[in-house]
Amino acid sequence: MKQAFIIFLFISYSFCQEPAPIKSGIAPYKNEYSKKFDVINYDLEIGLGEKSEQIAGIANITIVLNKNIKQIPLDFTGLSIQSILINNSSTNYDYKKGKIFIDAKKFEASQTLIISIAYSGKPDDGLIIGKNVHGNHSVFADNWPNRARFWFPSKDHPSDKATVSFTIHAPSKWKVIANGALIEEPKISAENAIGPKESRRTWKWKSNVPIPTYNMVIGAAEMDITTLGVASFAYSPSSPRSDGSIEVSNWTFSEDTEKSQPSFMRSIEMVNFFATKIGPYPYEKLVNVQSSTRFGGMENASAIFYSQEAIAKGRNIESTVSHEIAHQWFGDSVTEKEWYHLWLSEGFATYFGTLFFEQSNGRDDFIERMEKSKNRIFQSNVTDRPIVDYEVRDLFKLLNSNNYPKGAWVLHMLRGLLGDEIFFKGITRYYSKYNNKTALTDDFMKTMEEVSGKNLQYFFDQWIFSPGYPIIEFKQNWIPRNKGKGKMIITINQTQKKKWPTFIFESKLCWDDDKCIPVKIDQKTQWFEINSDTKPDSIYIDPENWILMDYKNK
Ligand SMILES: [Zn+2]
Repeated sequence: MKQAFIIFLFISYSFCQEPAPIKSGIAPYKNEYSKKFDVINYDLEIGLGEKSEQIAGIANITIVLNKNIKQIPLDFTGLSIQSILINNSSTNYDYKKGKIFIDAKKFEASQTLIISIAYSGKPDDGLIIGKNVHGNHSVFADNWPNRARFWFPSKDHPSDKATVSFTIHAPSKWKVIANGALIEEPKISAENAIGPKESRRTWKWKSNVPIPTYNMVIGAAEMDITTLGVASFAYSPSSPRSDGSIEVSNWTFSEDTEKSQPSFMRSIEMVNFFATKIGPYPYEKLVNVQSSTRFGGMENASAIFYSQEAIAKGRNIESTVSHEIAHQWFGDSVTEKEWYHLWLSEGFATYFGTLFFEQSNGRDDFIERMEKSKNRIFQSNVTDRPIVDYEVRDLFKLLNSNNYPKGAWVLHMLRGLLGDEIFFKGITRYYSKYNNKTALTDDFMKTMEEVSGKNLQYFFDQWIFSPGYPIIEFKQNWIPRNKGKGKMIITINQTQKKKWPTFIFESKLCWDDDKCIPVKIDQKTQWFEINSDTKPDSIYIDPENWILMDYKNK
């Protein structure tokens, strides 16, 4: 009797009790994610139910060992584990503090292993299960930055991208979206399929392109599917169509399908624009999904998730759509290797998202958007921090004005410095070199240096790795000569805080309406002389709005 009781306790502990989850969004410690093993593929099977907050999962994770290691660490938290096998044989493991340490002593470097983990429970984060904005049950993943670990075991860091396939058993009336291509039409789930036993269908999606774990998502709910058409100039190597064109569609709650149209209307135009400007679209399709992401939009590869509330309220979120579509190239395809280089994702998506409007709505609209983002930078609370800021411990704090508008402004200034032809040549080269891979700021800088033949170290040092921006003060002194002629001495001071650098930039110094001379600003105080017949009415710098700077005496 006593023994039976102990066995009962053991079973109830190992099958039911879920460990307490770790906190979301904590920055990894240095070298937490080593190259000692690489994840090649995640094969994820998830069972969902119509009223259930519980999930059942089986993850088959293919890895390659690069070194002999005693344990393979995977991120996983808040769910209970039923079994772990390596290559179909059971293995020892330790599951604590958000990690599974899987015994790997009997394996050797260069071996390929399949780790199979069966698990279940109610996810504490990452997979958001509950009522949608209209009160209907829905399930949507929301992984950024490192919340995939709350619903599937993973090496949950952007440095290790992998392919992923999903087998999702979901209530019959639901539709299920995920990354990649639908590999077969949904069919009635097998009776022994994992998860609740109810009327369900099984959906299979697969991404043959490696993507970061923060991009690996599923969305399951009752949804309308609206096909917008085909982006003919996507040139996607992963497209199921021989001409590389991709299908673009919207998945929305039926209550909001009509309201969402203005926001998504120009999606095809956007895909075509970015593919022409940057390089081939990387994925199999593009779907805009109304979902329960906590963000305004989340750029999940080939299945972008947008805030359900914004769409239900009928807001036009076209600027967000352009930003998220631009992310398919930057962030998803060229992924920041370390979180601290997030501007390679967010700054790029912000700038390219805005470039779409320069092309479609004209230069004035574009400059207005850039001016707005300039003000966001001036008013932000991170002006004393560099864009790449290694001191941030809470990854959500990286979603700041440095990584978004200031990152975009860095690209804008680089474009101003190099000119359109060289700038876009550099961008296409950078994309063709790093697509489906990862990159750091240095990789981008070196590519732009190669293409331009210029040393850009000072540029990246001051704008990316140092805080602030120039705050300019003009002083003018008119020295009259005979017969109304004279000259103007202009003093330009950089008056920003001492802990911000003295900035180096090239621009134009102008007076009256149209007279300009090229200037290079590289000192705290500089003097320039203008010969003019009359005393100029106005003196100004940067007439074409290429430089991120503020004025002391506005
Ligand atoms: Zn973004």
